[in-house]
Amino acid sequence: MFKKVAGTKDILPDQISAWQKIEDAGEKIFTSYNYQEIRPPLIEESALFNRSLGEATEIVQKQMFLIKSGTDEYALRPEATASIVRAYIENSLDKQSRLCKFYYTGPMFRMERPQKGRLRQFHHLGCEVIGAKDPGIDIEIITLADTLLKAFSIDGYITRLNSLGCLNDKKKLIDILKIGLKDRIVDLCEDCKLRFQRNILRILDCKNEACQQIVHGLGIKDSYLCQDCKDHFFQVRAGLDELSVPYELSPYLVRGLDYYTRTVFEFTHDELGPQQNALGAGGRYDTLISSLGGPDTGAIGFAFGMERLLLVSKLLAKTQETGTLVYIISLGEAAKKASLKILYMLRNKGIAADTEYEGKSLKAALRKADDLKARFVVIIGDNELQKNVVMLKDMSAGTQKEVLLEKLIEEIKF
Ligand code: AMP
Repeated sequence: MFKKVAGTKDILPDQISAWQKIEDAGEKIFTSYNYQEIRPPLIEESALFNRSLGEATEIVQKQMFLIKSGTDEYALRPEATASIVRAYIENSLDKQSRLCKFYYTGPMFRMERPQKGRLRQFHHLGCEVIGAKDPGIDIEIITLADTLLKAFSIDGYITRLNSLGCLNDKKKLIDILKIGLKDRIVDLCEDCKLRFQRNILRILDCKNEACQQIVHGLGIKDSYLCQDCKDHFFQVRAGLDELSVPYELSPYLVRGLDYYTRTVFEFTHDELGPQQNALGAGGRYDTLISSLGGPDTGAIGFAFGMERLLLVSKLLAKTQETGTLVYIISLGEAAKKASLKILYMLRNKGIAADTEYEGKSLKAALRKADDLKARFVVIIGDNELQKNVVMLKDMSAGTQKEVLLEKLIEEIKF
């Protein structure tokens, strides 16, 4: 018997309504912020990710699902930002509108060690704004993320905020770390020893306590930020304060990918556990568009992990499921023929309808209607056929009455 690949999940029909609720709420809110949906392909040239995420990043080093075809190499996308930027440049979307606002949902693929909250195929719900360096966009996008979390009935999350500064500032920060840590390498955890060589910024957000103490001891604060970046970050914070969007300053927050500059942020939730506590994250990437051959313009985005949203969302608990199905039960051959006509009539009117095909007894068929959470049951037997009526059972009211066939649609009200 075949089993699913480790780190993947079947999303079964009984879980779908939770997914759809998140997707529907997301679509409504993104639309109200004037974001448009974009659906890039799931595969791209692997070089796109190497170039944009950074050769030294963990994703590129260890986590890409690669597909080779002759001399070409493709990758299943580990995230969508690089694809969206590629689509923006390739389709000259900047010519249509200077500022583009996109949102997306869909599967992402990373070859990780599977564990709770860490899958090899997982789903992002995210957005990107391309075309502006204005701090107003940072404020908008963080406010939007906060609005989404509230709409998903998630509380108890913390929005963590930091600024990495421009490319020069990042270099300054890297130098400060290199100098400050060069005599402490032996005291760092094994991962950070490697990070020191490959991706030193990631030492800043290491979860190991010893590493944290060493890093905090350097007293870096915002010493690496230039005045422009300090001003930009000040305006972002002031805008969030003005809108009463809560956040915590998190001076050691860095993101795993090379392309981030200036504002970075993360949404954490304690219920996810200490290791994978991020619901989502994002930040600015003001140099990525031009480095991939596009115009010199700013951009910012974020992505939530949908599986993690579902782990902490109260959306399901809050809403009482009310069915909208009409279930038809026929008794006898003649009634069965007539019931098929009724079934198609209801479906053609856009009313969800199904019937009992397995020859069950009336009692068993009613039980099945109950299992399906049918709102109405239509029962039709020889008696009803002769009188051109059906028996209409309202499952939530617990009542039933005879209804003329031509009046059936009028009587079915959800
Ligand atoms: P990232 O692109 O790594 O910043 O991820 C954004 C969000 O996606 C994270 O905060 C998680 O909620 C989610 N995420 C990232 N990687 C995984 C994974 N392997 N499995 C499940 N969710 C993930």
